[in-house]
Amino acid sequence: PTGGWVESGAVVEQIAKLCKDSGVQFYSGHMDQLYSEGSRVSGVLTTDGNVIPGNIVVVAAGAWTPTLLPWLTDLLSPTGQPVLHFLPENPDLFRADRFPPWNSDIASSGWYGFPALSDGRVKVAHHGRGVSVHPDSRGKVDVNHEIRAREFLEQSIPVLSQAPIVYRRICMYCDAFDGNFLIGHDPNREGLVVASGGSGHGFKFAPVLGEVIADAVEHHPNKWGARFSWREAGAPKTEEARYTGR
Ligand SMILES: Cc1cc2nc3c(=O)[nH]c(=O)nc-3n(C[C@H](O)[C@H](O)[C@H](O)COP(=O)(O)OP(=O)(O)OC[C@H]3O[C@@H](n4cnc5c(N)ncnc54)[C@H](O)[C@@H]3O)c2cc1C
Repeated sequence: PTGGWVESGAVVEQIAKLCKDSGVQFYSGHMDQLYSEGSRVSGVLTTDGNVIPGNIVVVAAGAWTPTLLPWLTDLLSPTGQPVLHFLPENPDLFRADRFPPWNSDIASSGWYGFPALSDGRVKVAHHGRGVSVHPDSRGKVDVNHEIRAREFLEQSIPVLSQAPIVYRRICMYCDAFDGNFLIGHDPNREGLVVASGGSGHGFKFAPVLGEVIADAVEHHPNKWGARFSWREAGAPKTEEARYTGR
């Protein structure tokens, strides 16, 4: 097997620590809008009324990006994806030493999952079309999705199919119209860089994205720069692993 997984929260914490240790300063706050002087973006106005100044502002707000920068709605859209956690009677059957991360021919089914968490919960999720929702009002997982999940498990992992579902969540993707990141200077707003469009596969690229974004900010050439750079919206596309059926 060549699959693997990491705990995203722990990774983000570790990256933040590495940044702090190397001198990066963190200013916390909730961005309300961009702050501009003349026609140039020169900072961020927070919801508590403070301005965080910056020569360049990089907005990397995931699924919230098109709400914060509404002129991007042709390029980026928030999509909700259902996640379920099952609690099997015997979680030891699903520990990582015997139950790897898996997907079920994901492009033609959408289903994938992970070994049991330390408390025994087993995540089963779906990499599909999802539903178009605002990240602050996602709604609930559709009961029909739970029925489809149990039908799938009955066929493929029967011992999990009757286990209670102990956690349900709509999780957010920021889909770019063509499935590629959007990383570049906004040609119409000097001082603004957008780094978003994870399209459901953003996390695994965390180790390389910093360099791609830094090169975009500084206008340095980058191997991936052209692919992710600013572009007009065109025909919708997704990466090959995304299930696009109903
Ligand atoms: C169910 C699910 C499973 C996934 N599985 C995988 C996987 O297996 N592999 C993979 O590579 N990717 C996966 N992804 C996708 C991955 O999680 C995203 O692509 C990635 O997190 C995007 O990173 P980001 O930094 O662009 O956005 P986010 O991680 O969403 O970060 C955006 C941040 O901006 C903050 N923010 C929002 N609004 C404001 C504001 N106004 N002011 C200040 N901060 C703000 C948010 O709080 C958040 O912390 C999955 C996503 C989901 C939902």
